[in-house]
Amino acid sequence: VQDIDDRKRAERRLVEIEAEVRQERDRARTILAAMHEGYALTVMDEIVDVNDALCEMTGLRRQELIGCRPPYPFWPAERARGGVFAGSDGTLETVFTRADGTRFDAEVTTKPAFGADGTLIGFVNTMRDVSLRNRQRRELERRARTDSLTGLANRYVFDEELERATLGRGGETAAIVLFDLDRFKQINDAYGHPVGDAVLVEVAARLSRIARESEVLARVGGEEFAWLLSGCDEAGAEVAAERARAEIASAPFEGVGSLTLSAGIGVSCTPCNPARLYALADRALYDAKRSGRNRTRCYRDPAGAGGTESTGGSVASVPPASVAEPRRIPKKATTKAPAIATAMPIATTLVADAKSTLCAWT
Ligand code: GH3
Ligand code: MG
Ligand code: MG
Repeated sequence: VQDIDDRKRAERRLVEIEAEVRQERDRARTILAAMHEGYALTVMDEIVDVNDALCEMTGLRRQELIGCRPPYPFWPAERARGGVFAGSDGTLETVFTRADGTRFDAEVTTKPAFGADGTLIGFVNTMRDVSLRNRQRRELERRARTDSLTGLANRYVFDEELERATLGRGGETAAIVLFDLDRFKQINDAYGHPVGDAVLVEVAARLSRIARESEVLARVGGEEFAWLLSGCDEAGAEVAAERARAEIASAPFEGVGSLTLSAGIGVSCTPCNPARLYALADRALYDAKRSGRNRTRCYRDPAGAGGTESTGGSVASVPPASVAEPRRIPKKATTKAPAIATAMPIATTLVADAKSTLCAWT
């Protein structure tokens, strides 16, 4: 007769443990299947597990992904060497290629997954298509920098560029021209605001024809425009301003007739204070208006290198370094479900049933 109580207890415990492990693995599978994000588990750079979302995202079948080693079929060829996600621990943005050859912006987050004994199981990589997010971000940025009526740059961009231009290397000149339409209020009063708007759009188009691609032309107020001229001295700025004024006067505006423009130029040697240069051009514009409109006035900053204030005649002047993986990596990594779920860089919860508590996994 033998006492087999201990053996029986051990057998029952083993059955319990197996059930727990199965349950944990099933839960991890459910989470991975329900995730919108693409998932890949890599062990020594080799993809050993993926979810359906990654297959959908890349247009590749499970069997085409499992067993892949770098360069992965969806990974951009140009990043094939340094940018493989296995072995890194962080987030990077890149461009993935689908099976049909189309491309999309992807964000990849990589986290190491450790087993209960602290050994590295592999890397959990989650991937999401961020094309829409990026498009929306770019559109927001564009809107924040563009005047919605004319499509020109706005005052924010002009100030930013002016600040850069006035930093300059010693000996360079920075010149800005401020334009203001003469008696524009009368256009609005006589023909209405929409016609006034159409005039502003046409003025912007005509000024754009004069400005070089590299130069910043902005709408800085209602009927005021600013032009940042690169490397222009007073004479060059005056020629540019007169060309712009001639362009506005060259042909009548539809339904409105001819319009004129007043211009104020500020010139200074760099480095100089951008606000001071802007104020100088503003004063020149004010004086051009006061002395009869339809003309250009140019002031040089006396604080610049030499020169005193002057007015002329009619034209008065990724991925982090790889982490070496230890050799002892279990082949059946997917049975380490809790560790994988813990390494997932997204929030996931699994609800067992209506009454139970939430099983928080990550
Ligand atoms: P001045 O020769 O002294 O510059 O006279 P002005 O009439 O051009 O200048 P004023 O400052 O008296 O009037 C500017 C007008 O510009 C008044 C305002 O209604 C109009 N305005 C400002 N922004 C817009 C806009 O976006 N669209 C239209 N249609 N008009 C605008
Ligand atoms: Mg005006
Ligand atoms: Mg004005």
